[in-house]
Amino acid sequence: MPELAEVEWFRKQWDAGRGGEIVDLSLHTRNRVFRGSDVHQLQQRLIGASLLSSHARGKRMLFKFSGDNWLGIHLGMTGNIRAETAKYRAAKHDHLVLFQRERVLVFTDSRQFGRVRFYHGSDEPDWWKSDAPEIISREFDRKFVDEFLDRHRKAPIKAVLLMQNGFPGIGNWMADEILWRAKVLPSKKTTKLSARECTAIFRATKFVVRRSLETLGEDFSDPPRNWLIHQKWKRNGICPIHRTPLRHATVAGRTTAWCPRCQR
Ligand SMILES: [Zn+2]
Repeated sequence: MPELAEVEWFRKQWDAGRGGEIVDLSLHTRNRVFRGSDVHQLQQRLIGASLLSSHARGKRMLFKFSGDNWLGIHLGMTGNIRAETAKYRAAKHDHLVLFQRERVLVFTDSRQFGRVRFYHGSDEPDWWKSDAPEIISREFDRKFVDEFLDRHRKAPIKAVLLMQNGFPGIGNWMADEILWRAKVLPSKKTTKLSARECTAIFRATKFVVRRSLETLGEDFSDPPRNWLIHQKWKRNGICPIHRTPLRHATVAGRTTAWCPRCQR
């Protein structure tokens, strides 16, 4: 599932079409990715509109079009967006295709856990607003994180890191990476964390997000070689530091990997 850094990369794929007018579009009206949206209004208003700007917030994207039109996209499990050449023909899982004169902007989602939302209005849509600061921003500081951890004392730390209203954009692989780096056991109850561990989690969160944006988010290149992500899905994955076999279990409903020597 795309997390913050992958989403940032996908967001930029439609930037090729900025300034371009939508001359036609095709969409799968009844597909569940459009749940809650007025697809007829989407169709009527977006044709003739131009793509003005794109934004990412956690795992969500927002595209602003002329004429006070907004498109929100969540990629879900298997969604992606990309730009194709003007000759492109829509395929089976292309649920939304925006035709410009020079290119075609495509949203594809084979399993349909993603979502496309349309909004018409002068201010950004209500569903785009968020109380959680972006992790790379200055507002995401120790105070915010400490208060958030304190509000979820009873949950395992892995579950707390997956909460989008506290750690927007963090998903399964980034949470494991953060906890491995912070040397904290994923199943540890948040209330049991020492001040030192809270500091380590805060620092690791900032670091993992920044470096992921510099690699994956920039050009979809791999995160640094000595990261856990390269080992965590392998059957015989090892800790990049100790070469100890990783342990695997389901924590917070998600497959989780950790090093029994680093993380206690
Ligand atoms: Zn280790």
